[in-house]
Amino acid sequence: MFHKILIANRGEIAVRIIRACMQEEIETVAVYSTADKESIHVQLADEAVCIGGPSSMDSYLNMQNIISAAVNTGADAIHPGFGFLSENSKFASLCKDCGIVFIGPSGDVIDKMGNKAMAREIMIAAGVPVVPGSEGAVESVFAGMIVAKEIGYPVLIKASAGGGGRGMRVAESEEVFKNAFETAQLEARNAFGDDTMYIEKFVLDPKHIEFQILADKYGNVVHLGERDCSIQRRNQKVIEEAPCGLISKSLRDQMGEAAIKAAKFSNYENAGTIEFLLSEDEFYFIEMNTRIQVEHPVTEMITGIDIVKEQIKIAAGLQLSYKQSDIEFNGHAIECRINAENPKLNFRPSPGTVSLLHVPGGFGIRFDSALYQGCTISPFYDSMAGKLIVHAEDRQSAIRKMRSAIEEIIIEGIETNLSFSYAILHSREFIEGKFNTGFVAKNLEKLLETDI
Ligand code: ADP
Ligand code: ADP
Ligand code: MG
Repeated sequence: MFHKILIANRGEIAVRIIRACMQEEIETVAVYSTADKESIHVQLADEAVCIGGPSSMDSYLNMQNIISAAVNTGADAIHPGFGFLSENSKFASLCKDCGIVFIGPSGDVIDKMGNKAMAREIMIAAGVPVVPGSEGAVESVFAGMIVAKEIGYPVLIKASAGGGGRGMRVAESEEVFKNAFETAQLEARNAFGDDTMYIEKFVLDPKHIEFQILADKYGNVVHLGERDCSIQRRNQKVIEEAPCGLISKSLRDQMGEAAIKAAKFSNYENAGTIEFLLSEDEFYFIEMNTRIQVEHPVTEMITGIDIVKEQIKIAAGLQLSYKQSDIEFNGHAIECRINAENPKLNFRPSPGTVSLLHVPGGFGIRFDSALYQGCTISPFYDSMAGKLIVHAEDRQSAIRKMRSAIEEIIIEGIETNLSFSYAILHSREFIEGKFNTGFVAKNLEKLLETDI
């Protein structure tokens, strides 16, 4: 087992990883930017190294400084968390070259599966259903238009390097295609430094259903069931749950098998997620995330499996200690992302100092965050500051538990999106489980009227 792990991330996911290490008696090294000196991840880790200025380019994306910190502190592994360098194949390979274990798949596998256009090609070869669209990347606007004409409008123009819902635009017709393509491409170039694009049929009002998988170094792959992440704003998840309230056992088995097939076909190793769109019992692969995901806790709550600890064990060369048939699903879990933003001002980020914090607790309530009273939410990074997670015997009890947890929580000094999530938890469509990815856009005005 590892002796010391460096966590190349910040915020709630850095805290989550440090906690897992503490429980396993593995030493931890935090890295931080000058803006994060007072952050909780820095305080919790055994050691902390400043890796640069506030901008991500100077710090959390600064491979050289992070690797130097690992070498200088004698860390034997690096956990990348999510975002930042977590899907950067160059970084994964650099770790390996420096004799440090990257907790995740190899650089080669990240290259293949983290690239969305290429992953699509690989899934087609594996026989996993994908959304109709271009085979891989499209070379130009005109090549894209030919594909769009073939599959029929509306189409979605997507960035191969995309993530966090950025770098994609819908084109309803040929007239707007060129403009949508160029807008999405520009966004991708700015956000990811890569403007490779591909085309998919725009599936109308699907559910977003994803499967968590775990794969060890010896070819053993299991799935930990599905998550329904259809509650999204601008293609970014807001509320996630497990299991999905609607899908049948046979559909779960079918999708789970496809997820395992995808992982095996790509020689995947470590934790990963296969994302699908589900439209009237037809499912289509959309992408693989080759890292831990924000919403992993809901799966942990219903399976009892600590996914971060499994990631560490797999990277250390241990074999999975269970088979698919050993995995049981208990009850229902829901997660609300806590974003420092003001829903009433078009979800504008709301950085600032948390002047008062009261955290709900009790049976089946979990709070994964980087918040503490007096902490500062920096304007330099993503606005997600934490997650509230509940687990109960069934979906309706979980909804009630989440509502009461939100009623109890106090976060003052910054705005958060929790009142918005509270409104969702009271809407009939959500309660009945009949929502899809169009839910938030469709109900936006009504949802914004609610105050706790
Ligand atoms: P998930 O599929 O786990 O929900 P997201 O696409 O929402 O992942 O991204 C995970 C989190 O990391 C989100 O809060 C997102 O805004 C953030 N994120 C995504 N890409 C980056 C990046 N390059 N740098 C920093 N944060 C990022
Ligand atoms: P990201 O890397 O940003 O997470 P995804 O490819 O996973 O990008 O898509 C994010 C979300 O965008 C999906 O969960 C879904 O709501 C929507 N989406 C993606 N592809 C399609 C599609 N072909 N048709 C309809 N909606 C889509
Ligand atoms: Mg996605």
